[in-house]
Amino acid sequence: MSLVIVGSVAFDTIETPYGRREKIVGGSGTYCSLAASFFTQPMIVSVVGEDFPEEVIDLFKKRKIDTKGIEVRSGKTFHWEGRYGNDPNQRTTIRTELNVFEDFSPQLPPDYRPAELVFLANIDPDQQEEILNQAKEPKLTAMDTINLWINLKPDSLLRVLERVDMFFGNEEEIRMLSQEVNLVKAGRKLLERGPSFIIIKKGEHGALVLGKEFVFGALAYPCEEVIDPTGAGDCFAGGFLGYLDRVNSFDEKEIRKAAVYGSALASFVIEDFGIDRLKSLSLSEIEERHLEFKKLVSF
Ligand code: AMP
Repeated sequence: MSLVIVGSVAFDTIETPYGRREKIVGGSGTYCSLAASFFTQPMIVSVVGEDFPEEVIDLFKKRKIDTKGIEVRSGKTFHWEGRYGNDPNQRTTIRTELNVFEDFSPQLPPDYRPAELVFLANIDPDQQEEILNQAKEPKLTAMDTINLWINLKPDSLLRVLERVDMFFGNEEEIRMLSQEVNLVKAGRKLLERGPSFIIIKKGEHGALVLGKEFVFGALAYPCEEVIDPTGAGDCFAGGFLGYLDRVNSFDEKEIRKAAVYGSALASFVIEDFGIDRLKSLSLSEIEERHLEFKKLVSF
């Protein structure tokens, strides 16, 4: 099959109890594509400024990510700054400088248009919609978002939600969007708006996959140290969709397995700052962790 990922390629400044890193490479599209690249050869759509290092694009290419869809524009690359306290599930956004992303009008290169799987990672919902308008009858469309867009552009966001098959959100976002506290009720309410699957990310408590006819709970790997939680959600989605793309199936059995692969990818990225752990990661480590997940829930 074929997977297109639209998301941010960014510089992040991150502070956690383990230290501070200034302007390291991040972005929803970056994390998601790198995670998916362990299973398939994703195509990425994004925009960076002239200040973005060529070595990172080379790293993408080395991981067989198609980078034709990354536009280089004059100006500065998107910059996000976040801070985490002792609870890795709680983060404060210090600043979001959209820079070249501000008036970005994402374009799918012609050979990306027939892609069977399209993932709209966290970016402005109007930009997500532009991509949906260009895709040629994908088999599965999925989206993610953050509370910033729920607050700033709720109407645009709901319009995109109604057009996709799968929605990824964390607990807070699912509650905000559905205006329902109970997560199962909240997920069901969102299912009624169109998507066939709602994936509720619950940080260190794992993820809940709600289908129209089933519910699946994936554990999060019990990590002793969370060095930097940034990108966990994007890697979860990247592992999940990369796996589905590889097996070319969206049946319940594969969706369950995909959620466990997503959890495995998320559990690795948080072991180090930024994308560092993804750079040294191997497929055999992922398979090993996948087995450990099986053992964790076997009784
Ligand atoms: P996650 O920790 O998986 O939710 O994603 C973190 C990534 O999202 C960081 O690398 C940021 O660069 C990126 N990010 C944060 N805010 C935005 C935004 N408003 N639009 C696009 N990407 C963002």
